[in-house]
Amino acid sequence: MARYRDSVCKLCRREGTKLFLKGSRCLSPKCAIERRAFPPGDHGRQTQFRRQVSDYGQQLREKQRLRRIYGVLERQFRRHYELAERMRGQTGANLLSILERRLDNVVYRLGFAESRAQARQLVAHGHIDLNGRKTDAPSALVNVGDELQVRERSRNNGYFAEVREVLEHQSVPGWLSLRPDEMAATVIALPSREHVDISVNEQLVVEYYSR
Ligand code: SF4
Repeated sequence: MARYRDSVCKLCRREGTKLFLKGSRCLSPKCAIERRAFPPGDHGRQTQFRRQVSDYGQQLREKQRLRRIYGVLERQFRRHYELAERMRGQTGANLLSILERRLDNVVYRLGFAESRAQARQLVAHGHIDLNGRKTDAPSALVNVGDELQVRERSRNNGYFAEVREVLEHQSVPGWLSLRPDEMAATVIALPSREHVDISVNEQLVVEYYSR
């Protein structure tokens, strides 16, 4: 399973905005954007004042930003886009819905993990059951009626014991129903554009792939 292995903080610095890829560290003074608010690389400091960006540049940056927020590599992201194109409705909204339905994102949204990267690891390590079966594919898409649960034998390990306490106060998006006591949840609807609390112009992403 291919994945990005370099520093994720560099991605935020490249996009010039917080992508919140590291959980609580992102809200602390240790955040790299707070300390080094310029692009990474030898010439980062010099390029920070460049303002003129072409239409193509804007489309590319928006696509990269969205892709990086969800921690998806290019090939998979394009596959999600192609699926969004084949669905009814607006391609941009469909794409966001698909990204939200990824199993790693759902695990993150439920509060089982501090970041999508951590959620991805929990899924890949087999800690999550989907409809009663161990599922280790972070890219699996959930559907209405699906049941998720932390695997029984994982529930009492140190990590999930701490998570259980946090879940009591966890607020989840309206398309998910969380049962903190059972460390389980049901997908009660498909996510729509209003459920996605990320500030992104998905139309630019559509324009990028429509060139
Ligand atoms: Fe981005 Fe979080 Fe790193 Fe800050 S700490 S640069 S928000 S990943």
